[in-house]
Amino acid sequence: MPDADTVTTDTPAAAVATEVRRRPALSPSRASDFKQCPLLYRFRAVDRLPEVPTKAQLRGTLVHSVLERLFALPAAERVPAQARELLGPAWTDLSADRPEWTELFDGEKPDDHAEWLRSAEKLLDAYFELEDPRRLEPEACELHVEIELGSGVLLRGYIDRLDVAPTGEIRVVDYKTGAAPREIGEAKAMFQMKFYAVVLWRLRGIVPRQLKLMYLTDGQSLAYTPDEAELLRFERTLEAIWQAILKAGKTGDFRANKSKLCNWCDHQAHCPEYGGTPPAYPGWPEPDAGDETPLDRAD
Ligand code: SF4
Repeated sequence: MPDADTVTTDTPAAAVATEVRRRPALSPSRASDFKQCPLLYRFRAVDRLPEVPTKAQLRGTLVHSVLERLFALPAAERVPAQARELLGPAWTDLSADRPEWTELFDGEKPDDHAEWLRSAEKLLDAYFELEDPRRLEPEACELHVEIELGSGVLLRGYIDRLDVAPTGEIRVVDYKTGAAPREIGEAKAMFQMKFYAVVLWRLRGIVPRQLKLMYLTDGQSLAYTPDEAELLRFERTLEAIWQAILKAGKTGDFRANKSKLCNWCDHQAHCPEYGGTPPAYPGWPEPDAGDETPLDRAD
């Protein structure tokens, strides 16, 4: 099967796979950005200004990778000691893919890096306090999902874990590893989960039975059951957000919206609310004006 980003053209000589440009799509992270502050959306999705990840973000990406690897093991091997064993190889692979991430540790003592790895172990230990992965058989981890709504809006994202019961009931699971207080992230997290619920509902025709957020920093989980009427309303919200993004994209009029979340914004130096000046508007990007980064997926 060709993947979503490839078209296959049969010719008399051979089947030729041709890469096609991905259409701009709405992801939960970029939709949240626009809702929070249109200028932040512009900086991330249009200007694509670089952001330096924090060690907490890298730790989140690492823990997500370990949990994905854990579920690839036979069920009986999914124990805390095995998860800790996976940390080293997972970090080796992540840092090979993104050598710039290792620069964050330049000039540090080996003990500091070991301490950072220990803090990742704590998140994994917290995970095991919340559930026993030996009793689960997820349908997928880090699942890429994409659906075009009837209105033409393309929704795209990655689901941390999808559990499907023998009865067909679906549970969407998302691990939260961020350092921000849970109260600040909760509305954003629920927005993300409803986004996935709409995508799955439209892809499979089933409203997910449960949306489950697992907060590994404070060892708590939150479960929510959506209903169809709510997802229909939420779908309209997503369409409205995308229309607003396209409108702003035409003119470059992305307004700053100052809030307490500015404390987590990397772009204050370019933001008029903080005395900065945005770069000249480069125009609407084609393609992928809404894609997520691995760091987004591990917030
Ligand atoms: S600092 Fe605040 S207002 Fe400015 S771009 Fe960032 S989130 Fe928006």
